[in-house]
Amino acid sequence: MHHPTIILGAGAAGLMAAAHAGPGTLVIDHAKAPGEKIRISGGGRCNFTNLYAGPENFLSENPHFCKSALARYTQWDFIDLVGRHGIPWHEKVLGQLFCDTSAKDVIAMLLAEMRRAGAEMRLQAEVQEVAHGPEGFTLTTGAGVLTCDSLVIATGGKSIPKMGASGFAYRVAEQFGHRVTETRPALVPLTFGPDVLSLTKPLAGVSLPARVACGATSFEEALLFTHRGLSGPAILQISSYWRETKPISVDLLPGTDALAALKEARRANGRRAVGTALAELLPTRLAAGWAEAQGLTGQLANTPDARLAEVARGLQDWQLTPAGTEGYRTAEVTLGGVATDGLDSRTMESKRVPGLYFIGEGVDVTGWLGGYNFQWAWSSGWAAGTAIAAK
Ligand code: FAD
Repeated sequence: MHHPTIILGAGAAGLMAAAHAGPGTLVIDHAKAPGEKIRISGGGRCNFTNLYAGPENFLSENPHFCKSALARYTQWDFIDLVGRHGIPWHEKVLGQLFCDTSAKDVIAMLLAEMRRAGAEMRLQAEVQEVAHGPEGFTLTTGAGVLTCDSLVIATGGKSIPKMGASGFAYRVAEQFGHRVTETRPALVPLTFGPDVLSLTKPLAGVSLPARVACGATSFEEALLFTHRGLSGPAILQISSYWRETKPISVDLLPGTDALAALKEARRANGRRAVGTALAELLPTRLAAGWAEAQGLTGQLANTPDARLAEVARGLQDWQLTPAGTEGYRTAEVTLGGVATDGLDSRTMESKRVPGLYFIGEGVDVTGWLGGYNFQWAWSSGWAAGTAIAAK
């Protein structure tokens, strides 16, 4: 059976491309349902874009590559689409837009757009082989042999294999002579050795605003203590920049001068324990755990400036070296992917094989936490879809 365009992957990017690639487009996915990651995203409410999305919020070997697609299909275009479908939404924090009701609204919207454009979808269909010749592409699939003129690879990255992530995009890319950059789990909790776990385990569930830095990059967002180490948005963000053996620095009191605050507490009431003064600055459980770990048992009045300075430094420049990450099992995205030097930044078309396109998470463009990854899926999907329709 011949189709002008086949899109592999009915995720965010594939469905967006299908809504623009023109009639007769076929979307194939091996999953039982389309848009499964959209469904579970943002705690079931899908953080579908970010008001402030721009190229500076993305990591890539070539930070300029994402500029064209992001500028041509912006967050405002997607917000407009959501509005046209009457989907209620709200801004949570930091420009992050979420559905009021359910992420399923976004999936239903994309399916409606896809059908309106005359595209169809086949689910639970495995693609065994992709070949290319003068007549276009030939796909050997569980649903028979299919041919097409344009082939879009929208099969995502390696994160959450339980949900069907397969690394398929990288295999197809390499088959057609494309380079794939190093891939690694990103937006993922960091794990630590016993020295740190002895502090974090009893504090599991404690959350507070923090600034987490790795090298020159830092994020000020919530930090969460867990049984396995540290998590929360600040840690997920920095995980994309962290590399093995590198330390991270955590400021548990961003925007506060901890030394000045402790000195003031001592001046106001020197009879109080240092731990009690900490509880005015930090969540109570953390203050108690921190005081115990640091052996801070005495009264403020008996604690000299040098010791207070040491405590303050520990709170504002807590140096930790993660043992690793929780891996693809829980990573929200895959960092790296199909190298952008082999793709046209306007259309996402392969420079090596005309008619072959790579979009979404499979490409070496990775967003921060906060709706940026979906925006890349929409922008790159739109770029490929409209380029195909214009052929
Ligand atoms: P995917 O959405 O992963 O879609 C790929 C599709 O390809 C899947 O349907 C898969 O079944 C199919 N597929 C894979 N291999 C094959 C194959 N061999 N044959 C056929 N089909 C195949 N980003 C945000 O911006 N905001 C959020 O709120 C957010 N929350 C997230 C929460 C979680 C728990 C996770 C895991 C991710 C979250 N993300 C979020 C990231 C976001 O989901 C991804 O960046 C986005 O889904 C990537 O879109 P995609 O279309 O490239 O890939």
